[in-house]
Amino acid sequence: FMQFPYKWWPDDCTGFSFIWNEEDHLVAINEFPHGPVKDGKSWLQDIFGFYTIDGDANILMGWNVGMLTREVELLSDDVVSKGCQYILNKFLGAKYNIPPPESVTRTKWYSNEHFRGSFSYRTVDSDKLNATAEDLAQPLLANNGKMTLLFAGEATHPCFYSSAHGALESGVREAQRIIDLYASPREKSCRIAIIGGGMAGLGAATTFLQAGIEDFLILEASDKLGGRVDTIYLNGNVLELGAQWLHGTSNYLHRLAEENNLIVDEASEEGVGIYVRNDGYIFEDFMVKKIDFIVGKILEECENFVDSEKYPFSVEEFLEEEFKKHLRDNPNEDKEFVEKALELYDWHYRFQVIDNSCHRLKEVSAKDWGKYSFIGTDRQKHMNLRNGYKSLVDILLKSIPEQSSLLETPVLKIDYSKAKIRLDCRGNLTILADHVIATPSIGFLKQNLLQFQPPLPDITRKTIDSLGFYGIGKIYLVFEEKWWKVDGFQLVWKRNTILGDDRDWIRYVSGFDTVFNQTNILVGWIGGDGIEKMESLCEEIVGIHCVEVLRMFLQDPSIPLPIKVIKSTWISNPWVRGAYSHTTPACDRAGCGPSTLAVPVTMDGVPKIFFAGEAVHESHFSTTHGAFESGERQAGNLLKFFRRYKL
Ligand SMILES: Cc1cc2nc3c(=O)[nH]c(=O)nc-3n(C[C@H](O)[C@H](O)[C@H](O)COP(=O)(O)OP(=O)(O)OC[C@H]3O[C@@H](n4cnc5c(N)ncnc54)[C@H](O)[C@@H]3O)c2cc1C
Repeated sequence: FMQFPYKWWPDDCTGFSFIWNEEDHLVAINEFPHGPVKDGKSWLQDIFGFYTIDGDANILMGWNVGMLTREVELLSDDVVSKGCQYILNKFLGAKYNIPPPESVTRTKWYSNEHFRGSFSYRTVDSDKLNATAEDLAQPLLANNGKMTLLFAGEATHPCFYSSAHGALESGVREAQRIIDLYASPREKSCRIAIIGGGMAGLGAATTFLQAGIEDFLILEASDKLGGRVDTIYLNGNVLELGAQWLHGTSNYLHRLAEENNLIVDEASEEGVGIYVRNDGYIFEDFMVKKIDFIVGKILEECENFVDSEKYPFSVEEFLEEEFKKHLRDNPNEDKEFVEKALELYDWHYRFQVIDNSCHRLKEVSAKDWGKYSFIGTDRQKHMNLRNGYKSLVDILLKSIPEQSSLLETPVLKIDYSKAKIRLDCRGNLTILADHVIATPSIGFLKQNLLQFQPPLPDITRKTIDSLGFYGIGKIYLVFEEKWWKVDGFQLVWKRNTILGDDRDWIRYVSGFDTVFNQTNILVGWIGGDGIEKMESLCEEIVGIHCVEVLRMFLQDPSIPLPIKVIKSTWISNPWVRGAYSHTTPACDRAGCGPSTLAVPVTMDGVPKIFFAGEAVHESHFSTTHGAFESGERQAGNLLKFFRRYKL
């Protein structure tokens, strides 16, 4: 941290990143011959930039990384300070008059014997050894089998290693292990254990009840039933943090919603309002419609690969190739048109990343693109529920006896090696059951936090590993009053725009839409690589970033800050870890997908574990009705088994 006597950089500058050319390697060593050198490069080249700090007007912070960091820590403050001044002057001296710093403060994490560095990362060696964070998190047992030494810390977190929240979660995890150890053991038994009380779990429970079977228990990790349905109430109306719309008819949930008069006439649409660029340019309607039509047509063509032997590697490959082909086939279009078309294409790409809940479209299988099926008219694509999705869950729960579910009861281990399946749950609770319907999300299952004894069959494990699962984020901006006159703002970026600061995550927001039944609220949709950053920021900062970007796009500095921000956190949710699933090129290669996950796991010819959930539905994956139906189906399969053997 270099504290200068005054701020010598411009107000709108947030920092300087340094790029070196080959010739300068030697020059740097000759001109500043102090400190370590490796492979012909001075330690100074590992300082990749200097950046401003919020709230500290005269300070620049430099980041030093790489092989020489440890040796740099041993240099005197004076050498480090002079070295930093040398590079600042070398890169910026021609433009700015840079005064010497008043003081330099630096970190020495490696020299600190209590840390020896900053944080952990996965190495090629750990891959080779198949050594994971979960291995490190396994407690050591004494001779009597009792846990004696437990490990927590960022390095033991399977997905949030290297982060403060990962470290915190790991501490909670291990403390919970000890609490469980000392909780007095309890045991319950039931004929069927249903893991998870989301739509799939409720679908299974409803089916058993309809068949006259009441001897089941829903074991739900969180403190409520509904899973990825999460309705909250604001201003007397609903906001959905999870599932938003009912998609289509001819399914149980739609029938139930109709019977109970839950569906309103007003249907929603996506991608409405104005398409506006970060320089304030508003795209002409005809242009927006034209690109929408072209992209829509290409994606429709992609559906044909479902019956084809030959298919492209991924949706991304097909979409990009065909879109470029379209531009090539229309050489009369001028340069400006092509540029705008590519900018709008980028919006569609972002939209599809969100819609498919993936990182990138290259993770989405082109072969299976046509498998998703929608039944209904255009107006039934995005149906709104009068009192929110929770009202549907509440109706389902009316017929499920309260004592049939245990909340805050995560299942940690399933031992299906014997006739009675043993489920170890948090709180030293053991459930003995004959059959299990397991409905945790693919995101949860991928973490391997639920242990299976014996391990799951190869094809089941392979399917869990191969299916894609990532996130969707929603950001509700609540304003004092409505200041917009359009139905939404779709954000189109000039190509290659990088904000280059803390707000970079906003590049992954498709736009801000109006919200059904809420006059003064806008909702931002985000996916891809921006979502984890968004989830990690506090609401206030998220709100400020969103409004700053809206001000930039609409060229209107008077847009007010929101009075409240509400955001979803599905990736951080330890029992879900994202939004929904998709099939991937890895599934194509391995010949697996929802149907292979639907095959029951057996022991001695008896079906023991049935997986259910949105990811287990061949054609309605990613939806609530698909999840419900998969639960119904797997319960139905178990009932068939009972009938066949008169059980
Ligand atoms: C932001 C967002 C928007 C969406 N929009 C729509 C939409 O508009 N329309 C639509 O149809 N669908 C939408 N979906 C998808 C829909 O919500 C899901 O497909 C559906 O709710 C999944 O139900 P499920 O039962 O398969 O899984 P879940 O709802 O995830 O239920 C599984 C349950 O298992 C519990 N669990 C996990 N691990 C354990 C364990 N070890 N022990 C005990 N319990 C455990 C979890 O807490 C969870 O409650 C959206 C989802 C998100 C996140």
